[in-house]
Amino acid sequence: MFSGTRQIRKPQRLLLEVMGLCLSRIQGIAPSAGIIYCGLECAATTVRFTSNLRAAEELVDEVTRMQQGDASPKLLLNPHCPACEFRRQCHAQAVKEDTLSLLRGLKEKEVKRYGRKGLFTLTQLAHTFRPRRKGRRSNRRSSHRYHALQALAIRDKRVYVMGAPEVPNGAVRIYLDVESNPDEGFVYLVGMIVYDSCGETRYSFWADSKDQEREIFDQMVAVVARYEDALVFCYGGYERSFVKRMRRQAARKRPVAKLL
Ligand code: SF4
Repeated sequence: MFSGTRQIRKPQRLLLEVMGLCLSRIQGIAPSAGIIYCGLECAATTVRFTSNLRAAEELVDEVTRMQQGDASPKLLLNPHCPACEFRRQCHAQAVKEDTLSLLRGLKEKEVKRYGRKGLFTLTQLAHTFRPRRKGRRSNRRSSHRYHALQALAIRDKRVYVMGAPEVPNGAVRIYLDVESNPDEGFVYLVGMIVYDSCGETRYSFWADSKDQEREIFDQMVAVVARYEDALVFCYGGYERSFVKRMRRQAARKRPVAKLL
């Protein structure tokens, strides 16, 4: 099988196994593995199949039952929905069923985990929310995501804020954003906005290939290193993991450690 992406994910493995199953039904011999050629370089990766192609058998059985009208697929809203032609119907059905997948970012695994606890609807999940008491000595801010609080907000149609947000302030503030292409597996753009006593300065460093990634990383570190006490802001953990990844190959570790 050929795949345009560099990484092989579970659906691709399963699809390959289903192809193996189709072949086995024609040839009478079940293959034990298949090969996926990935990315532009067509790098070959061998994928081992489950014994007796069990995973593919189960999938094909399930699809056959759905096709015959004996089963219907479980509705699970997912990141692909905004681009899907059925999004309105599915969203309306999800609202009607009060399904947990209305919570953005809740993965299938987590939906199943809540299901095992007997929580199948947003209303049920909303009832489980209990704000944690803050310890007297604790001054750490939790970044924990409370699905139950999200469910409560949706149920009550209100915005809840867990404590007052505290954003640190300083003479020099740097806002950092990096963009990557997951298929190509490298960061191609580092964007920065620096506020200091002179005003606002914008930077954008581009990499046309993976070989140039280190170069734009060094440019970014050089900008931050100009300031003694800069505060660096970014949204989410991606920028941090990028810096951590590049730290291994950085010639000068100190400015990178400071940035982290
Ligand atoms: S809108 Fe419905 S059919 Fe389309 S991806 Fe989402 S859940 Fe699947």
